[in-house]
Amino acid sequence: MVVGSINIDLTVAASPLPRPGETLTGSSFSTGLGGKGANQAVAAARAGATTTMVGAVGTDAFGSLALDALRADGVDVGRVQQVEGATGIAHIRVDARTGENTIVIVPEANGALTGPQVEEALRALAPSSPVVLLQLETPLEVTLATARACEELGLRLVLDPAPAAPLPDEVWAGVWLACPNETEAELLTGVKVTDVRSAERAARWFSERGVRQVVVTRGGRGTVVVGPGGTSDIPAFGVTPIDTTAAGDSFAGALGAAVAAGLAWPVALRRAAAAGALATTRVGASPSIPTAAEVDTYLRG
Ligand code: ADP
Repeated sequence: MVVGSINIDLTVAASPLPRPGETLTGSSFSTGLGGKGANQAVAAARAGATTTMVGAVGTDAFGSLALDALRADGVDVGRVQQVEGATGIAHIRVDARTGENTIVIVPEANGALTGPQVEEALRALAPSSPVVLLQLETPLEVTLATARACEELGLRLVLDPAPAAPLPDEVWAGVWLACPNETEAELLTGVKVTDVRSAERAARWFSERGVRQVVVTRGGRGTVVVGPGGTSDIPAFGVTPIDTTAAGDSFAGALGAAVAAGLAWPVALRRAAAAGALATTRVGASPSIPTAAEVDTYLRG
């Protein structure tokens, strides 16, 4: 089960990008499914998990587009609310020459998701859905309700604290696994993450608040895991990245799917790292997320 944001990404490319007050002609435009919640739902489904999305879209054309895209990946959208008005969008401007981008996200329908709606969905789905993925692109009340319900129902909550925002300690107490990247770990804990030692120190901040497994993702520098089994530093797979968008979402979705399937912890981490690495070798958000078969082929070398 994935609780989170659903956006439509509107991406324009131009070089150079216009300055304030300037209008110019760009070189390409694309429309695609995005939002950390939707990306992680697609990632979990492609990793082989039976996946239900809990979120909200608007009644506009983008709402139908987002639902169709989720359905195309086999994600159950029966728990996605359609609320009057606009669907969340991310407006992405890419410099066609340097690849640098600027992004404006407008949450729209994502902001209408409420705690009671999420709680009802979690209660209904709990018997068949042992793992819940959550990020921080939905209202705080959704985060609070999800943490509370997961604790009460005995569900494993995987929180990707992105974009990083301070949370009350009661949320962390309900989190089974947290997977911040280096920047998010630093923003939340105050520990600057530059190497394995500092990643471990940052991870301890989460452990002290009751998080069982802490996975600090460090891009091409690998992953530092702190949990009941101690600390491990897992090297990243060697790939040539061309676009790192959705690497973290691919990682979280694949990890959630692996845990739900009952895979051994080191195997789950390895599959997640391979999914994250493969996502960096392709352009875009959801189009770059690998399938279980692609991860298998990659791991067989
Ligand atoms: P985010 O996208 O949230 O910033 P990361 O960049 O840390 O997250 O990526 C998540 C995971 O994806 C990493 O822990 C790693 O396993 C994999 N990954 C990301 N970038 C690379 C890369 N350049 N090379 C190999 N693996 C990568």
